[in-house]
Amino acid sequence: SAAVVLIMRHRMRSSSKWARVVAILKEFEEKCGTPTSKLMQVADAMTVEMHAGLASEGGSKLKMLISYVDNLPTGDEEGVFYALDLGGTNFRVLRVQLGGKDGGIVDQEFSEVSIPPHLMVGTSDALFDYIAAELAKFVAQEGQKFHLPPGRQRELGFTFSFPVMQTSISSGTLIRWTKGFSIDDTVGQDVVAELAEAMERQGVDMQVSALVNDTIGTLAGGRYSNKDVLIAVIMGTGTNAAYVERAQAIPKWHGPPPKSGEMVINMEWGNFRSSHLPLTEYDHALDAESLNPSEQIFEKLTSGMYLGEIVRKVLCKLAEEAALFGDIVPPKLRTSFILRTPDMSAMHHDTSSDLRVVGKKLKDILEISNTSLKTRRVVVELCNIVATRGARLAAAGILGVLKKMGRDTLRDGETQKTVIAMDGGLYEHYTEYRKCLENTLNELLGEEVSQSIVFEHSNDGSGIGAALLAASHSKYLEVLES
Ligand code: BGC
Ligand code: MG
Repeated sequence: SAAVVLIMRHRMRSSSKWARVVAILKEFEEKCGTPTSKLMQVADAMTVEMHAGLASEGGSKLKMLISYVDNLPTGDEEGVFYALDLGGTNFRVLRVQLGGKDGGIVDQEFSEVSIPPHLMVGTSDALFDYIAAELAKFVAQEGQKFHLPPGRQRELGFTFSFPVMQTSISSGTLIRWTKGFSIDDTVGQDVVAELAEAMERQGVDMQVSALVNDTIGTLAGGRYSNKDVLIAVIMGTGTNAAYVERAQAIPKWHGPPPKSGEMVINMEWGNFRSSHLPLTEYDHALDAESLNPSEQIFEKLTSGMYLGEIVRKVLCKLAEEAALFGDIVPPKLRTSFILRTPDMSAMHHDTSSDLRVVGKKLKDILEISNTSLKTRRVVVELCNIVATRGARLAAAGILGVLKKMGRDTLRDGETQKTVIAMDGGLYEHYTEYRKCLENTLNELLGEEVSQSIVFEHSNDGSGIGAALLAASHSKYLEVLES
């Protein structure tokens, strides 16, 4: 009968639909593959590029920026210091009272605001005025409990989480924006001067004593509480790493040899690129449509700004070519960046038997209702593929750094620990990602060596770290010491 024919036709369509879905998913998974052998190649390429970036300015896609931090916090830092942390979607202002020798952090206060999106793509003055105005409000609330000696100018550590060519510990020019910021007139400018001018316009009387990347701040903050911290890694909206290098291993450094014999390097590993990276058609499309085409390729594979967007792109393909969501492609699915990584994470972690979180997210965000369990499973699988690739590549990056430092093997009888200070929303909140990253590094290092490597979550250490570096580079300190 006609009904039977209809049902048959529906079944045939339905089975060929799932065959298409599975085929697309399988192909994507294969292209995203990160077997150990590939990760080893990525790690080795990272080490090679580190050498090249240290050898000469412009010697590699890895900028290996000199931070001018040649001494990390000792615990002796003392006084009231401010910090300003600008980098992702939020920015924070902090006030810290440091207790001096063994005193630790006596008191701290902070305020956090999100940056209005239009300011990320507007003018330099508008962005810095906004920041300075927030700082002004915060300073006005300074209470009795913070003991700032009378007549002393307030000092600030400025965490600015973008690639900056430092000209001193407290100055540096912006090389380029990343992570959705794009303000042409800031590029090439000294960002401390930009901030200082805005502070003047807003009536804030404060001096910038240290300009640091968030990785450097995290390293400093991490070291303050644990002397074995040698590396800092940010996995957040963007990604980056910093580590302690021997000054002698930095041929491009022509300044005076640091007393400590060491210099902290801001790798800017987000811009790492290698033929060994498993790039798919979706990654190429994402890159081409981005604000910074062909830059920050490693970042686009691994960090929070992009993971959800990659998932969206594959879902779109599944909708177009395999009718995953029915005969029409859900219109919302065509909106770039509509699926954010926190939503992807929520779907990935859905443990309910009917995957109701996935169902709700698809409905609320993409306006796709009544999804079948089978469809929801596809979505979870997709999140897993994208997160796993990112986390494993990030682990390979860390292995590359450990290799450069000679800490990927144990010398006889050595028991020294290498602590990695970790921060960023992706690391903090995306549990599957974090577990995969840590497990992968252990897998790559082998059981014995991996026991000497410790991950430590440095909760917003970058702000405190900047305050600590402002303290150790305070202008009043110089007066005292001379
Ligand atoms: C920036 C780095 C920063 C990282 C993490 C990247 O996009 O280039 O300077 O450290 O994001 O915030
Ligand atoms: Mg941050």
